[in-house]
Amino acid sequence: MINGERTISRPLRWGMVGGGRTGQVGYKHRTGALRDGTYQLVAGAFDLDAERGRDFGVNLGLEADRCYATYQELITEEAAREDGVEVVSIATPNFTHYEITKASLEAGLHVICEKPLFFTVAECKEIERLAEEKGLIVGVTYGFTGHPLVHQMAAMVKKGMLGDIRIVDMQYTHGFNSGDDVGAGEAVKWRTNPKSAGPTFVLGDIGTHLYYLSEIVLPHMKIEKLLCDRKAFIPTRAPLEDHATVLMHYDNGARGRIWVSSVDAGNMGSQRYRFVGSKASVEWSDSRPDQLIYEVQGEPNRTLHHGMPYLEEESLAIDRMGALHTEGLGDSWSNIYLWIAQAIDAKNRGDEAFLKTHHYPGIKAGTEGVRWLENCVRSADAGSVWVDFK
Ligand code: NAD
Repeated sequence: MINGERTISRPLRWGMVGGGRTGQVGYKHRTGALRDGTYQLVAGAFDLDAERGRDFGVNLGLEADRCYATYQELITEEAAREDGVEVVSIATPNFTHYEITKASLEAGLHVICEKPLFFTVAECKEIERLAEEKGLIVGVTYGFTGHPLVHQMAAMVKKGMLGDIRIVDMQYTHGFNSGDDVGAGEAVKWRTNPKSAGPTFVLGDIGTHLYYLSEIVLPHMKIEKLLCDRKAFIPTRAPLEDHATVLMHYDNGARGRIWVSSVDAGNMGSQRYRFVGSKASVEWSDSRPDQLIYEVQGEPNRTLHHGMPYLEEESLAIDRMGALHTEGLGDSWSNIYLWIAQAIDAKNRGDEAFLKTHHYPGIKAGTEGVRWLENCVRSADAGSVWVDFK
């Protein structure tokens, strides 16, 4: 169980780019980072609006002269200080991720970047090499993938409790973009423009969460081919999609489906995952995040509760609230940030042995998400045909 005791020798000096007052995801980063004594927020270039960004930073408790107008200024000014930042989080629109990550790594900073990491696998590979060369960590933040019940599912699959995995069925859908974009805010505008969002809208925005989660639960399974059907129900969003279905064939013969949509009008359930094996199935939804449904063929269905001693050690070790009390998205973010802090600390100490076995969402998690997107787009744009996964 995690109880907030510090697991690294001192807090990392942390800065944020983006995630300002009006940003959607910034507070999730701070909720994740500022919990276990592993990060201290000391600087930021929080906002495109420099004045608002400075005011916001000061309200977060930062010194005014460490609230910068641009990320370039943050990097330069902080490098000149003995107590300058050593890690930055990037919570800005997709098209900025690559340039901010590159500049930060070149300045010797570890990076925690939002998904989808970059636009192309080639960019990911280049950054992978740069991080390796500089001896720095790049972490990626996939929201629910730190939840104890996600890791319970992974442990059950690993132990063979489901038998051979046959069906993967995942959904992340909501209805917030059911109407047109007339008068839409910034967060919708950049998401529906290929120049700022990249080659996808909902596939990258929410589908990559599902793909990484499936990699955690089913690390032994690889996709052999996939077929993606994507559509913009609101035509002004084309060529990007507000709805997509992806069918997948895995190397063990399993079949998979991922459904992502932002035009699923009225749906507030959002995420649901079901993994079906030859003996049993597990199902989890973020509308009941404390519960995992475990169904063994021929037996009464079971509801497993987070934090209960009957769960696997992999799940109990990362539980925070304890059974009976809600464990949710904020707790998951805290685990993700903690794992990345431990990775950075190990990198700083040169402890490669620790890094070999330590679980955290690193650059490969980002690269594989972008690879999945590239394959989805290749299939969809060829007329929704089966393509070999490359
Ligand atoms: P947003 O438009 O709501 O907020 C973006 C923020 O970044 C704003 O504060 C804006 O002023 C600031 N900004 C933009 N460009 C900047 C720059 N060059 N320098 C400094 N600040 C800048 O966007 P959002 O919804 O918060 O999404 C941001 C990123 O987070 C996207 O990549 C998105 O895909 C990702 N995201 C991830 C999750 C998750 O669960 N991991 C959830 C939501 C969004």
